[in-house]
Formats: sequence, C-alpha cells, structure tokens
Amino acid sequence: MTSVLRVNGDRLWSRLMQMAEIGATAHGGCNRQALTDADMDGRKLLARWAEAAGCRVRVDAVGNMFVRRPGLEEALPVVMTGSHLDTQPTGGKFDGVYGVLAGLEVIESLNEHAVATRHPIELSVWCNEEGSRFPMAMMGSAVWSGRLALDAAYALTDRAGLSVRQELQRAGIATGSPVQRQAVKASFEVHIEQGPVLEQKSKTIGVVTGVQHMSRHEVVVEGQEAHAGPTPMDMRRDPIRVLADLLPALYAAAAQRGKDARLTFGFIETLPGSPNTVPGRLRFTVDIRHPDAGQYGALREEMNQLVFAALARHSLKGDIRCVWEAPGVTFDSDCVAAMRGATAALGFDAMEMVSGAGHDSCNVSAVVPTAMVFVPCAGGLSHNEAENAQPSDLAAGADVLLHAMLTMAIDAKK
Ligand SMILES: [Zn+2]
Repeated sequence: MTSVLRVNGDRLWSRLMQMAEIGATAHGGCNRQALTDADMDGRKLLARWAEAAGCRVRVDAVGNMFVRRPGLEEALPVVMTGSHLDTQPTGGKFDGVYGVLAGLEVIESLNEHAVATRHPIELSVWCNEEGSRFPMAMMGSAVWSGRLALDAAYALTDRAGLSVRQELQRAGIATGSPVQRQAVKASFEVHIEQGPVLEQKSKTIGVVTGVQHMSRHEVVVEGQEAHAGPTPMDMRRDPIRVLADLLPALYAAAAQRGKDARLTFGFIETLPGSPNTVPGRLRFTVDIRHPDAGQYGALREEMNQLVFAALARHSLKGDIRCVWEAPGVTFDSDCVAAMRGATAALGFDAMEMVSGAGHDSCNVSAVVPTAMVFVPCAGGLSHNEAENAQPSDLAAGADVLLHAMLTMAIDAKK
C-alpha cells in the first residue's frame, strides 16, 4: 500500500508560488529576510496550512518552528524534516522554501492515504538560515544543536541596530527560556542543488553523502622595497618569487587530489602596490576544499610544506595561517541508505554527491542522524531572483523524502 504513495506535485508547486507572493521582488524573486514582517507572514501562512492538516505548531525561544503530526506512539523520538523560509534580499522562490513545503506535502500525503506512523513526524522551519540580515548563517539550527549559545544569537544585530531578541519579541515569540532539543530518530532535508551538476548530468536526484571540508588561509611574505630599475635581479628580496613558485606547485598538488579538490586564490595584494617598486610585502589567500577528510588533510599539509619550502628557497621571511575553517560533514549511513533506497524504489535517475554549500543539516547532523537529497535547479542558479526548478523534479524530491521518512517512521525498531 505505502509503496504506491506519491505526493501531490501540483499542490506543492501551487504552494511554492503562493509562498513566493510574500515578499515578492520586481524580478520574480523573494525578499523574506529573517524576522521581517514578510518572514513572519510566510510562517503564518505555513502555520495555517499545517493546522488545517491537523498538526500542532510550536515555536522555540530562538524562533525555530516545529509542525508535529502525531505518531501511534507519541513518546518515541520524532522523524524530522525541515529547512528554512527566510531568503536572501534578492533570493529565489525555492532555496529553503522547497524543503519546508516538501515536508508539509509529506504530511498531507500521509493524511490523505490515512497512513499512521509509529513515530511522530515533525517539520522544522529553522530561523535565520541565510544570515543576510543577522550575520550568522544557520543560526536557529546552531542554537538547537548546541553549537551556538542562545544569548549569542539574541545579541546579533542587523544594520539598523535591531537585535534578534528585539525582533523575536516584536513577532510575539517568547524569549528567554532554554531551547529544548526534542529526541530525533532521523532527520532529512530536501533542497535545490544550488549548483549545475545534476542538470548537466541529466539526473533527477542527488543523494547527498556529506558536506565538503573547507578552509581559508592567509599567506604573508616579507620582501624589501627597492627601485625597479637600478636594483639587479639577484640583489632583490622579491616576495613575488614565492608566489611564482607556489601557484604552479599548489595547482599541481590540488590536481593530484582528484577532481573533487577545490583550490582558489581569491585575493592577492602587494604593498606598496607601485608599478616601479619591488614589493616590500605580499599577502594572498588560499581557499581549499575537499569532500574526503584524508585528501583534504593531505592537501592542507602539502600546502604548508610548499609555502615554507618556497620561503626557504628564496631566503625570505613569511608565514601561513588558517583564518577560517568549516569541518566537513559525513551524513549518517542509515539515513543516506534510506534516501538511496527510496530513490531506487521510485526509479529516479540519481547520483551521489557532496554539498559544496552549508545547510541547516550540517548543524542538525552534529546531534542526530541526518541526510539530504538535492534536486536540479535551472542553470545551477541560486541566491538569485531568477532561481528556478522543474515541478516534476520538485515532486520527485518530495516523493523520495516521503518514502525515506516512512521507512524510518513506520519501522518497528526504536
Ligand atoms: Zn537554503
């Protein structure tokens, strides 16, 4: 019986379009930044739909919303899905919103087919995922998972000086009580890919096995300012010599780590920056990413060695330091298997992939078993008013979510 269950793709699409009317922008996108009137109106619309579907809605002290469909055994841990309703200032109709409305569609479909689950089902709407108004991406899920203190979230302010605490209170959300984390058996998130790979490979579903490791490093090399004319080449202390060695060596090192390695020199600065002066100082950044922990660690180590070898070769002083790092995430193997199994049972063309962007599921996965699936978006565009996706792909992702959640929620095991 449950194997023939499908979500209602037309209803999903029509609700995506209704939600997109709230905070609609001139060029077909959305501006529902966290805790603005538009964000709150979007959440009210979701609450109306959820209550009409017989669900209970509650909001925690950091503004995360939870929609609960009871289970046969209410004391069991919930099977969860969720994403976010807030957008970038010139955001699209699908980033985050799709994951929330696909979760609601799972609940509607179970109701329509009178399917009861042993475990309760909860749909989460994480507060301030985008971090564009209050500068902390994935804020609500970070507090919920214990990675960010509630008071640190409250203290964040927007450009007008309004704090998260003030804006929560303005929205009528009770602040101050601790954020309690409910017991969760498994958590799933569907999202548009936000990159071009699925579309280019003509795949409907990307089974996401994790999020890549990433870090940013700053290299400084000290030289000596000297006149570009009178100073012979062999009598200069030219920091660009180090860069000249490092660029080909680092590109080669990254290439050796396979096609998943990412290497970006996003910022290169010389001081004083004069065309006829040998620079006295060179500063540049290296951003490295890799989905595999071993390869990532090896590339980082090799980068350090190459920097110090180049400094020594040219008898120059300098240093490299890590200025930002986000550890990679490996999603839970049972949750990934549930997504993979649902995809195969439904017969969708799929591939396994690693996310290049952060998601609420990164925080959630720190404390409960988690996995994600991606669906294609047009041209890989996201954080853009032109963001678009095919209704059939969106329905496919919601169907995969439905069956992965059912596997977990019906399962006799605790
Ligand atoms: Zn998102």
